[in-house]
Amino acid sequence: MNFQALPWQSDWLSASHTLTEAHHHAWIVSGREGDGLSTAGAALAALLLCETPSNGKACGECGSCKWLAGDVHPDFMRLAPQESDDEVSRLPIIKIDAAREAVEFMQLSASTRRGRVLLVDTANALSRDSANALLKALEEPPADTRWLLVSAHPARLLATIRSRALKLALPRPSRTAALDWLMGEGADRAAAELALSATRGSPMAAFGIIQSGGIAATGDFIKDLLSPRTLPTLSWGAWVDSGGKTDRRARFTLLLSLLVDWTADWARVRSGLSPLRFESQRTGLAALAEALPLSAALSYHRALLRQLGVPDTTLSARLQLESILLDYRTCFSR
Ligand SMILES: [Zn+2]
Repeated sequence: MNFQALPWQSDWLSASHTLTEAHHHAWIVSGREGDGLSTAGAALAALLLCETPSNGKACGECGSCKWLAGDVHPDFMRLAPQESDDEVSRLPIIKIDAAREAVEFMQLSASTRRGRVLLVDTANALSRDSANALLKALEEPPADTRWLLVSAHPARLLATIRSRALKLALPRPSRTAALDWLMGEGADRAAAELALSATRGSPMAAFGIIQSGGIAATGDFIKDLLSPRTLPTLSWGAWVDSGGKTDRRARFTLLLSLLVDWTADWARVRSGLSPLRFESQRTGLAALAEALPLSAALSYHRALLRQLGVPDTTLSARLQLESILLDYRTCFSR
């Protein structure tokens, strides 16, 4: 795993290091997943464990840094959900056995003076029982332990966990920093721009979408949205699914984000304003908007926004997309 902070995280990392060194034992590292949230948590863990950090960075040279790089650090554990192939469409959870094991690990004495660090990535994947197991340990933490809970949705963590941890909010990267990073990773500018728009400026999510060939499909998707009655819901569901285990969520989010912006432009055009995102589709948007009462357009748009903010973990990405697109078609068949 990568313990190196991303370029836009370095000031945050340095400030967070100062804070976490100074006091308290439990911290919620919050931010957007697509901004490299896991990487930020891992980089902070590495910095806390580093024996000779300098300028807010782990040195990369000391015993601790080398252990981490070799995945053999005796004082570090990452508690993450177990991915399984049979339930690929559901978001995996951290099971109680794994949580108990992590709590036991934290009770042992540390091998170095830097103490022990547990990285929970992500805390939103804790089952209720797992969260309770962790909570007990957070109430009476063993000496020299630091608990980093990575969470893209801290408000959905148990209130009792939230109240025992302090929050470190990861700032969003600037558009320029995100673009520079994507192009540094080999993306061309146009694809990077589009992917960033689709992911609301999240570079890691944008990278995933570019890698999975998602950008190439967006033109076809918009074309299909222009003809709601024949919108091929099942083929778009299949397209999302064909992203496989790693990319189907990114593909789903790409199409969902495009739809959010698309329906926002509907409402704008319907109210006599210019489209914000899809200026080149102004005529098509106007024709669509005319066929739809503003209240229906807005309520569909709001439902999409909710889904973007609070991802549904019970239905597969494919089923969710198909149902969203069916609703889209229904909006026009009233
Ligand atoms: Zn080091």
